[in-house]
Amino acid sequence: MKPISVCLAVLGLSGPLLVQAATTLPIPATPIKPLRRAAPLPGEVQPVAPRTLAAPAIPQLLLAPPISQVNRIQYLSNGHIEVANAVVLLSPAEEGQARQIAAEVVRRTFAARSKLNEVDISVYRRGTYGGFGGPLPLLTASVPRPRLPEMNGWASGDAYDRAWEAATTTTPAARNEVISTQVKENNITFYGNSSEAMKDETQRKVSRLVGVQNGLLYRGEDSLPVAALTFDDAPHPMFEPLLLDLLRRGQVHSTFFVIGRNAQAYPYFIRDMVAEGHEVANHTYHHVRLPPLPIAAVTQEIRQTNQALQDITGQPVRFFRPPGGDYTAATLAASRSLGLTTVFWTDDPADFQNPGHAVLTNRFSRNLEPGGIILLHDNALQTLQVFANFLNAAYKRKLALTTLSEMLSARPGDKFTVAKPLSKPALVHQSGLP
Ligand SMILES: [Zn+2]
Repeated sequence: MKPISVCLAVLGLSGPLLVQAATTLPIPATPIKPLRRAAPLPGEVQPVAPRTLAAPAIPQLLLAPPISQVNRIQYLSNGHIEVANAVVLLSPAEEGQARQIAAEVVRRTFAARSKLNEVDISVYRRGTYGGFGGPLPLLTASVPRPRLPEMNGWASGDAYDRAWEAATTTTPAARNEVISTQVKENNITFYGNSSEAMKDETQRKVSRLVGVQNGLLYRGEDSLPVAALTFDDAPHPMFEPLLLDLLRRGQVHSTFFVIGRNAQAYPYFIRDMVAEGHEVANHTYHHVRLPPLPIAAVTQEIRQTNQALQDITGQPVRFFRPPGGDYTAATLAASRSLGLTTVFWTDDPADFQNPGHAVLTNRFSRNLEPGGIILLHDNALQTLQVFANFLNAAYKRKLALTTLSEMLSARPGDKFTVAKPLSKPALVHQSGLP
């Protein structure tokens, strides 16, 4: 057996010595920050990943005359369709008119930009608004242009299947309801003592050869022309319809690792994923780093997300991915005890680092291979912009891109649908991105 190389990063915790086992994958360029003695609240420790560049600016739409409750309206194109995302903040006195105000903002947004195919809207309490990762909205909706006429009825109390409203009893979110997705999956990092690290290393090696091993998956069968496409951190308004549109055009399917809390607030995007042949999987409820948490809290994060997804889709969840790629033997055991396979990856272009179109395309293509597991993020703007390049790379290698389940069930003799190149080349954004 190849000798294990263990980076001794003592994390300042009492009890068993914790080490970071960087065996066959690169050690993070920036050392892992010491964990604090007191376990942080879920999602509290979220340093920005190393080598991350500033995200490209997303254009904003200004209404004239303005609507005072509008915080901002952004819009984005994937080269084929255009979607806006409106954020609305309400005072307590205005909350009773949330639907009416939201419907008016949707109408005015469509009227202000004729190219828009869809408007997504999130309505928050002004006093507790903390951005997308802050306390949950009061109300959200997704409105494709053909459904705009339904806004009048919805504002008057009719049902609308692409809207969600918080329960009336909802109180301002506690600190542990706040999430952040600043930490992205980049380095697979096992935390444990040296004997646990050796066992994990063995499991990794076996999984790379045979697929699922003891509830762990690193890669699929490399003799078939199939790779699994996975997107972490979903769902995000505006990005989700743009991404689903590109997947549809490219005739590829994906597994979405979903943050449970956000799935609750945007359930219609989860339903869209399933309706279009994609797979939804578990990425914890609060996008929390698991190694510092008590095992009961880890189990709760996973169980709560399974329940949220099953309530929306009616289907059991099969796969789990720990936020940040950070895990322990106990994390694996918790996932396994809930019937899940913990999934890592073989192809990570680090799209969240905003490295530029050429770098991102090269990184994606470099590690694209049969049986591979591709890691992307659903709200990475540059992934949307170069997705056509990704499809072309898969097409040239005659690879089908599909869900984890479909990759694992593929057998010799199956008919595989190779990714379809898009008619339009990679999109160059109007704001002059690299
Ligand atoms: Zn994540």
